[in-house]
Amino acid sequence: MELSIAKADPSRMKPKPKDEATLGFGRYFSDHMFVMRHAQGRWQDPRIVPYANFEMDPAAMVFHYGQAIFEGMKAYRGKDGGIYLFRPGANMERMNNSAAKLCMPEFDGEFVLNAMKDLVNLDRDWIPRTHGSALYIRPTMIADEPALGVRPSATYIFFIIVGPVGAYYPEGFNPVKIYVSDEHVRAVRGGVGEAKTAANYAASLYAAEKAKKAGFTQVLWLDAVERRYVEEVGTMNIFFLMGDELITPPLRGSILPGVTRDSVIRVARDIGCMVVERNITVDEVVEGCKSGTLKEVFGTGTAAVISPVGEISYKDRAHAVGDGKTGPLATRLFNYLLSLQYAEIEDPYGWVKKIG
Ligand SMILES: *Cc1c(COP(=O)(O)O)cnc(C)c1O
Repeated sequence: MELSIAKADPSRMKPKPKDEATLGFGRYFSDHMFVMRHAQGRWQDPRIVPYANFEMDPAAMVFHYGQAIFEGMKAYRGKDGGIYLFRPGANMERMNNSAAKLCMPEFDGEFVLNAMKDLVNLDRDWIPRTHGSALYIRPTMIADEPALGVRPSATYIFFIIVGPVGAYYPEGFNPVKIYVSDEHVRAVRGGVGEAKTAANYAASLYAAEKAKKAGFTQVLWLDAVERRYVEEVGTMNIFFLMGDELITPPLRGSILPGVTRDSVIRVARDIGCMVVERNITVDEVVEGCKSGTLKEVFGTGTAAVISPVGEISYKDRAHAVGDGKTGPLATRLFNYLLSLQYAEIEDPYGWVKKIG
């Protein structure tokens, strides 16, 4: 397959947001996008084209049965002015796993990664410069066959859009209050919880809105069967520093295997932390808050990297985690991962890829 590139007419390029402090998340998109199509059993016509609307049949299967998967990655502008990706191969691998789960066609991760590099380089002026800000990359695959029979689509569109996003913590790295949902669940083992597929996010909205109205930033999800075991927080994986053990729930089908989760496990072990992947009940978490053995709680994900949790509300009772402030481990991991991503320090893991 040969990638074709059609550049946008300079007169039609969009003005870039001027103030990097107010970028927010997912509000601006660059001048180009990558698109390819799957038909007759193969990927074809890969191209970078000016950012534009899609024209789709209203019967396109994605609108009805939700065959849609995506990824979330970032391109960072390094201290040296270079452009870097963080473990991009892991996202390609995960997207292919999501595709398999949703009966969607797999793709050549290396080919897509190269197209992504070309896209990011073409729109490199959109990459913000402030530390903490980045160019967010959203690879997506949707089913576009116009047919209403419930079965996998015969055709698909794969696209990548990119856009500048701000530092997640414009006012500082402060802990959030979370709400334990013991009524609504996100995903069930045997379902599609481990795939980055649209349905999981649609299913999370109701509880998330409820939590927001009650003054909480995120929902802490419990397992769907017993509603006892902690799974994730919002759209992040979760870690608990209990005594001197860093605990995170194991990947057993209902939890998204985060790249940041995996990176935190590796780095934490290398700085001497005892990391265990095991089930942890909400009762153990509440008990840890009361007794003081629970020192830190934080979420992990590409958008925020590390998101400290200061308070957990369960059955109408609020419990402070430690002293309610951001802990030293969360701070250390956050600073270390950001320094790696912005290529400010040597990368002993081979995670950081220079692409321009
Ligand atoms: C994307 C995502 C994560 C975090 O994954 P990263 O690869 O670390 O960005 C965690 N949980 C859910 C539900 C997600 O969608």
